[in-house]
Amino acid sequence: MNHTPIVSARGLSRHYALGRETVAALSEADLDVMQGDFLILQGPSGSGKTTLINLLGLLDNPDSGSILLDGVNAASLSDDARADARRDRFGFIFQNFNLIPVLSAGENVAYPMLLKHTAADAMQKRAQELLAAVGLADKAGVRPDLLSGGQRQRVAIARALANAPGVIFADEPTANLDSHTADTILDLMQRLNRERGVAFVIATHDLNLMEQYDARRLVLHQGRLHIYE
Ligand code: ADP
Ligand code: MG
Repeated sequence: MNHTPIVSARGLSRHYALGRETVAALSEADLDVMQGDFLILQGPSGSGKTTLINLLGLLDNPDSGSILLDGVNAASLSDDARADARRDRFGFIFQNFNLIPVLSAGENVAYPMLLKHTAADAMQKRAQELLAAVGLADKAGVRPDLLSGGQRQRVAIARALANAPGVIFADEPTANLDSHTADTILDLMQRLNRERGVAFVIATHDLNLMEQYDARRLVLHQGRLHIYE
């Protein structure tokens, strides 16, 4: 077990200008994402979940505070190095699935590997293995518009795993799904977490959801993070 956090955040703050006002979207957040973590980030709409995930995932920069990536200060990385880190070490899952509509399920899963110049046969083999792991072995040639919401999110999960990341950030991954489908998606994420050791950080505004999962829970209120170990 590696005890260096994959991502370590200290004193993260992010403000947004809104006309003459300033909104403190996130204030002084401290958080370590460890190898194999299953972390549920709860909080009402507007509490700062997306802001925090975007900072941890190097999609945005804090106004103050620091982020270490495997012990390396993210602020010291070039834009290219940050993009490589996102591609190679993180996976992302979104509420609206964000699949590429003109690509098949298999091509969507392969896409992050294509960005990494993976050899075609290795890429196809891994895309097929990942589709099988999310229960969609028979959908490789199907475009997203012919899939259900739950199936689309499974494709997105397979895509997030493509480059074998250390952590997958999922921002309200079940918000567009019915409650039964939401449960199957969360069950799948917990199984992949256990089987593959990939960490998950899952944001949700649904405070009742996910009580049954074995997780480390964080709660955001008005940009302030509370950690319940
Ligand atoms: P959540 O994901 O929990 O709903 P967000 O992180 O999206 O919360 O937003 C936190 C706060 O920051 C909210 O008050 C929101 O209105 C504000 N905010 C988020 N993004 C922007 C933006 N691009 N411009 C201005 N305010 C923003
Ligand atoms: Mg959000």
